[in-house]
Amino acid sequence: MSIAAKANKSAVILFASLHGVTIHPRTTKADGLAILASHACTSCPVYHAVFGPVQPSKSRARKDAKESGLSTAIPDVQTDPPPPASSHRYPPEPISDADKLMLVREFCDDLKPVCFEEAGCAVCGLLTKVTELTPLDSIGCSLDPLLEPGLARLERSDPNSPVSYQSGPIVDPSLNAVCSYCISALSRDRRPVNALANGLWVGAVPEALACLTYAEQCLVARVRTNRCVVRVSSGHSKMTANAISFACPTVKVY
Ligand SMILES: [Zn+2]
Ligand SMILES: [Zn+2]
Repeated sequence: MSIAAKANKSAVILFASLHGVTIHPRTTKADGLAILASHACTSCPVYHAVFGPVQPSKSRARKDAKESGLSTAIPDVQTDPPPPASSHRYPPEPISDADKLMLVREFCDDLKPVCFEEAGCAVCGLLTKVTELTPLDSIGCSLDPLLEPGLARLERSDPNSPVSYQSGPIVDPSLNAVCSYCISALSRDRRPVNALANGLWVGAVPEALACLTYAEQCLVARVRTNRCVVRVSSGHSKMTANAISFACPTVKVY
């Protein structure tokens, strides 16, 4: 009201319209103010905050001016109380029995198998900590990005039997959990880079091949790889960028 009293008539009409009161343009300013004062609406707060300038006491202002050489007094600023003196004693007390027990218990908890056990991810096959794996049936995203027809060829025991492929998304059927990296890719409808569906699927290794010795593996391998490992002066090994695969002359071997 005090603002409206200082304003002109058009501003009073504007103030009234903000409060849902219509004032005819021919109404005088005094009548408009009276209507505005007597109106009732929900947007008008019951209490108002009034801010006013703080006048420093004269003696204090004079003292401050003398000290600082300034004509205007600067009001006091309340600072935080000084930090309490450190209560830590030196040297510290020896460790208590309860703390020793807690240390041993936490050490044993950290050595539990669940803290470092690893299992394969059904989508990418990479070994991942069991605690970071999510069960395949509760990942809550579609496995459609893993569909790749004609990749997962099923094992044949007879050369005359027809070639058939595994149906559905390419996942390792022997595993039932997915790593967090694969879940984040699948939830964005993308195929993870290391997914078995990216041509990395080999299927279950037949028992006859799984138990071969190193020499037998070299004989049946269809390609042989060539690595170049050099020893550096500090005693460690360093692998140079060299990964060439040569086709094995398997026919000549037999
Ligand atoms: Zn109002
Ligand atoms: Zn994965």
